Amino acid sequence: MSSIGSPTGAAPTDTGRAAATARGHLFNAGSLGRYRDVLARGVDRVARRVGEADRPFTGVTPDELAPLIGAIDLDRPLGDTDAALDELHDVWLRDAVYFHHPRYLAHLNCPVVIPALLGEAVLSAVNSSLDTWDQSAGATLMERRLIEWTAGRIGLGAGADGVFTSGGTQSNLQAMLLAREEAYRTVGGAAGRPDRPQVLSRLRILTSAAGHFSVQKAAKLLGLAADAVLTVPTDANRRMRTDELARAIDRCHRDGQVVMAVVATAGTTDFGTIDPLPEIADICAAAGVWLHVDAAYGCGLLVSPTRRHLLDGIERAASVTVDYHKSFFQPVSSSALLVRDGRTLRHATWHADYLNPARAVEQGIPNQVDKSIQTTRRFDACKLWLTLRIMGPDAIGALFDQVVDLAAQAWRRLDADPRFEVAAPSQLSTVVFRYRPAGLAPDLVDEANLYARDALAASGAALVAGTKVDGAHHLKLTLLNPETTVDDVAHVLDLIADHAAWYARTAAVAELSCPV
Ligand SMILES: *Cc1c(COP(=O)(O)O)cnc(C)c1O
Repeated sequence: MSSIGSPTGAAPTDTGRAAATARGHLFNAGSLGRYRDVLARGVDRVARRVGEADRPFTGVTPDELAPLIGAIDLDRPLGDTDAALDELHDVWLRDAVYFHHPRYLAHLNCPVVIPALLGEAVLSAVNSSLDTWDQSAGATLMERRLIEWTAGRIGLGAGADGVFTSGGTQSNLQAMLLAREEAYRTVGGAAGRPDRPQVLSRLRILTSAAGHFSVQKAAKLLGLAADAVLTVPTDANRRMRTDELARAIDRCHRDGQVVMAVVATAGTTDFGTIDPLPEIADICAAAGVWLHVDAAYGCGLLVSPTRRHLLDGIERAASVTVDYHKSFFQPVSSSALLVRDGRTLRHATWHADYLNPARAVEQGIPNQVDKSIQTTRRFDACKLWLTLRIMGPDAIGALFDQVVDLAAQAWRRLDADPRFEVAAPSQLSTVVFRYRPAGLAPDLVDEANLYARDALAASGAALVAGTKVDGAHHLKLTLLNPETTVDDVAHVLDLIADHAAWYARTAAVAELSCPV
């Protein structure tokens, strides 16, 4: 076998030729023609597909797509941009789920604004990495301005700081990391240097029954006990009950547990409800507990011209999660964690000699990696920057307001429709309901709703989400598209009722013909 340093494989001339060809694909001053041409072709494909989309989904199944994707030989390049885009069309673009379509009503995915798409293209071409100043320069300061701006909108005060993250899950994880370390420090202050595993096993997080599952995941990743997350019951409007919260904190203290954080949700994923933040903040302040507000969904209210007051109390949080990629009409990823006391971010700090040595702090070099659980990190902030500079915050808030108004109209319509039963109204833009006409056998209600959702998705005519409410299957509209009209919603409800009624009829006939 060859030893290190001796040439192997292809002759140098072949290698040289291959490298010369490959170098043509590198983005640099010599390839600007190709850069413009290739990107324009991609833009053109997407524009054409979006222009043709008469429904949000084709209804393709994994079984139909898997063989196509599996048959592609990734070791044999097509070499040609158009051929690769043709192939991309076949395996993805043709059957992708299109969030811009007015009848996409399923999850918390927004149509995106064009200034943010411009940001996406620019940030990936320049490819700044936000971990250190020496890989980003101005991008670092721009991200800091946006963190400052967001913290200002929240009202976190002069000591606030934060960092962009990959999403609400990561923001919540980091918030819980900071809360864990602060709780450990507090317990440590009282007890010298306590045994870490012993303290960790006593830590508890309180969140409502409608809180996001990423809190559970965070607890697991942070080495907390299996039962570390305690669920606080909600009221009839699916908001955290503060009497129950106070009781739960007392119970923890009585049992020798340490409440490391209360996670309030400003915009629950299913119900779009906002926990009573001022009362929760009072309870947390009295108990000396870290208050984290998960505003992954509700953060759009920060720029709402008419509904900012719904977030009153958020300014008292120790930390806040915001997902610009949910209610600021930004492409994935765009999210941030904000903290009241910027010093708490030190729990995410590690100084590496090669990257962010401790002396950089003394020299005043702004290295965002000191505040992040990521290292190499995208300049996602660029998208929000261009959105604010081109459209401005009021424009984003007006778009969000529009979908909140639409949800209220959809709720009234459902409430008045005898075919359906609707859950408590959302404060944001979801509507949870189910098909339940008078006379439908109770055991068929769950099945009819599950069937209707699947049948609708298979047709691709519209997409809605499903969830469970108190154990019963429900359907959910998540309205984030300002282009969706009440008529769109009404049409989709008719489709759902048709599918569900067909199922109920067929099931009833089957039961009659083969009695058990
Ligand atoms: C979506 C959501 C999250 C998770 O955010 P990702 O960006 O999907 O990681 C967390 N909390 C709430 C309330 C959410 O709606």
